[in-house]
Amino acid sequence: MSKYDVIVVGGGPAGAVAARECARLGLETVLLEKEFLPRPKTCAGAISAAAMNLLDVPIPPEIIEARCSVFHGFYGDRQITIELEQDFIVLVSRDVFDLWLVSLAQAAGAEVRQGQKVIEVDPGTNGVIVRTSGRVYTARLVIGADGVYSTVARAVRKPFLKKDLAFCVCSEIGTVERDVPWQEGVEVYYGLTPVVGYRWIFPKRNRVSTGLGVWPSCTKHVRAAFLDFLKEKGLAVGGRIRGGHIPLGGISRPAVSDGIILAGDAAGFADPFTGEGIRYAIASGRLAAATATSLLSRSAPPNRQNLGVYERNCYHSFGADLKAALFISRLFQYFPRILLGMFFNSREPFAESLQILNGCRDYRQLYRWLLWHIPGLLRRSFSDRRVQA
Ligand SMILES: Cc1cc2nc3c(=O)[nH]c(=O)nc-3n(C[C@H](O)[C@H](O)[C@H](O)COP(=O)(O)OP(=O)(O)OC[C@H]3O[C@@H](n4cnc5c(N)ncnc54)[C@H](O)[C@@H]3O)c2cc1C
Repeated sequence: MSKYDVIVVGGGPAGAVAARECARLGLETVLLEKEFLPRPKTCAGAISAAAMNLLDVPIPPEIIEARCSVFHGFYGDRQITIELEQDFIVLVSRDVFDLWLVSLAQAAGAEVRQGQKVIEVDPGTNGVIVRTSGRVYTARLVIGADGVYSTVARAVRKPFLKKDLAFCVCSEIGTVERDVPWQEGVEVYYGLTPVVGYRWIFPKRNRVSTGLGVWPSCTKHVRAAFLDFLKEKGLAVGGRIRGGHIPLGGISRPAVSDGIILAGDAAGFADPFTGEGIRYAIASGRLAAATATSLLSRSAPPNRQNLGVYERNCYHSFGADLKAALFISRLFQYFPRILLGMFFNSREPFAESLQILNGCRDYRQLYRWLLWHIPGLLRRSFSDRRVQA
C-alpha cells in the first residue's frame, strides 16, 4: 500500500493545478488519472483571460490555436459585434492543454499515475483509503478533481440532480469550406427554437470548434438542433459529436468531508451563464492545495470542520459570484425573449458581460448594472418593436 500526504484524483485543470501546488509547497503528492494522457476531452477549449491570469505561468504559444478579441452575437436577424482592446479568450485543444498542466505538476515533484481509475474512496481513521482497479493508496487528504461524474464526490455529497446540470454537444470540424468567409473572432448564436440555449463557432488552427449548450429543462432534440445548425452554417460534421454535462455553479453544495476536498466540476464549480469551467477548476484547485498545505504542515487534522475554510474561501473568491450568475441565467431561462431582446437592443450589456471573461467585472456588478438599466433597456426594446411593427 503506497502512502502519501495528498492524493489528487483526476488530471484535468483542477487536479493538475492542485497537484502542482501541493508538490511545490512540499507535500508528498500523487495524481491518479484513469486515462492515459493526452486523452480526448469534450470541451470547446476556450480559456478566458481571467482563467489565464490565475495561472502563474503563461500558456506556451504553440498550445494556443487562436486568440480572440472580437465577439459576434446573433439572435434571429439581429447581430452585435464587439471588439475589445485585448484578447478575452484563447482557444486550445484540451488534450494538449491538460497534458501541459499535468507536466507542470510532474516537474514540481508530483508523482503522476495514469490508467488508474479510482473506484472507491474510504475516509478511514488512519487516513483516506483510495482503491483503483489494481491498487490501494492511502493519504492524509484526498482532493477529488475527477470531473462532473466524480467518484470521489460520492463520499461527500448527493449526486447532482438532472435539473442542476446543463447539457452541451460539440464537434470539431476541420478544413472548413463555407460560402461566407469566416469572420474574425468567436460567433455565438442565441435562439429559442426548438431548444433554448446558445450555439457557438470558435476558430481553431485549421478547424473550428462548434457546439450547442442548453438549459437543464431543454435537453430533448439537442442533437437534431445541432445538426440543423451545422447545416444552416454550411458546416459538414467531421469528427464525432460528443455530449457532456456542466454543473450549474451557484448552487450551495458541500465541497468537503472528513479527509476529502472536491475541486472543479466535481464540486459543481462552473459558470451557469456561459458554461465556463476551466477558470473555476484552476481557482478551486489552487485553493484546495493551499488548504491542504496549511492544515497538513501544522499537523492539524483534515476533518470536515477544519476543511470548512476551503468552502468559505471558494465562496468569497468566486462562489458568491456564481450565485449571481445563476440568478441571471435563470432570468434568461424563464424570460428569454425579453432578456435577449434587451441585450440585442444595445451593445452595452454584451460589452459588460465580456468584461467578466476579462476578469475586469463580476456577475454581481453585472446584476447591479442590469437592475439599474433594465427600465431604460426595456423601454428601448419595446419602442423599437413598435417602430418595426
Ligand atoms: C461540450 C462542453 C464544452 C465546454 N467548453 C468549455 C470551454 O470552452 N471553456 C471552459 O472554461 N469550460 C468549458 N467546458 C467546461 C469544462 O470542460 C469543465 O468545467 C472543466 O474541464 C472542469 O475541469 P476539472 O478539472 O474539474 O474536470 P475535468 O476536466 O473533467 O477532468 C477530470 C479528470 O478526471 C479523470 N477522472 C474521472 N473519473 C476518474 C476516476 N474515477 N479516477 C481517476 N480519474 C478520473 C478524467 O479522465 C479527467 O481527466 C465545457 C464543457 C462541455 C461539456
